[in-house]
Amino acid sequence: MNIKLNKPFAANSAVDEFDVKQVKKALNRLGYYQPYEKTGITGIPDADVFSALKSFQKDQGLQATGTARPGDETVTKLSSEAGKKKSGKYIWRAVGDNKVRDSHAALDGTVRDLADSPDPGEEFNCRCWAEPIDENPYPDAIKPVYPELFLIPALRLGRIFKILREILKYSRKKDNYTDHAALRSNQRSASQKDIEEAIKTAKEAGNVITKTGKYGTPQKVYKGSNGLTVIEETQGRNAGKIITLWWN
Ligand SMILES: [Zn+2]
Repeated sequence: MNIKLNKPFAANSAVDEFDVKQVKKALNRLGYYQPYEKTGITGIPDADVFSALKSFQKDQGLQATGTARPGDETVTKLSSEAGKKKSGKYIWRAVGDNKVRDSHAALDGTVRDLADSPDPGEEFNCRCWAEPIDENPYPDAIKPVYPELFLIPALRLGRIFKILREILKYSRKKDNYTDHAALRSNQRSASQKDIEEAIKTAKEAGNVITKTGKYGTPQKVYKGSNGLTVIEETQGRNAGKIITLWWN
């Protein structure tokens, strides 16, 4: 890579668009710079390109100014380092708009070798870039960078427990209650305890009536002193099950 700057390259000066592209491409190839995904590599200077240059200078033992001048040591070093034949892999990235040429859109997301040709950004007007492949896919596994990511499963867990409790409650009811009675107990906010209390107090006070239901099945009517009336069928399909209940 032979970088030739047209103008001084610094955050506080009017930089040359082509200079910016060259520096970005070189720093991207060396793993120092990643562009914004929506724009790819452009000639517009951003804060990242100057801080990336600073890091590069630091690693090369140069004065870490984040600036460069045509033909200076930083430019020479950047050219030679970026031009070195390197071994390693990267992921080709392309901007997701319709201006991306088909051949580069096809390369988007593919794993390439640093020795492969072309390089991202090498061809005319190409905005593509190289995304480094991390050796360790979970470098920040212990660090909670986004607390939400940890919070969401915790909330889900709470919800799962709630659902499990409901299922258990319902299946417990199913043994002694018809589906209809279970529904009514929910609608009428009668808890298991209320129902047990109604049956117990009705028995104690002798408030248990035996009658024949609408469909000819014998039923027991418990009028609890807590204000709850509970109907239990004593024969047939629902024998021994509570079929409905209401508050007086
Ligand atoms: Zn491209």
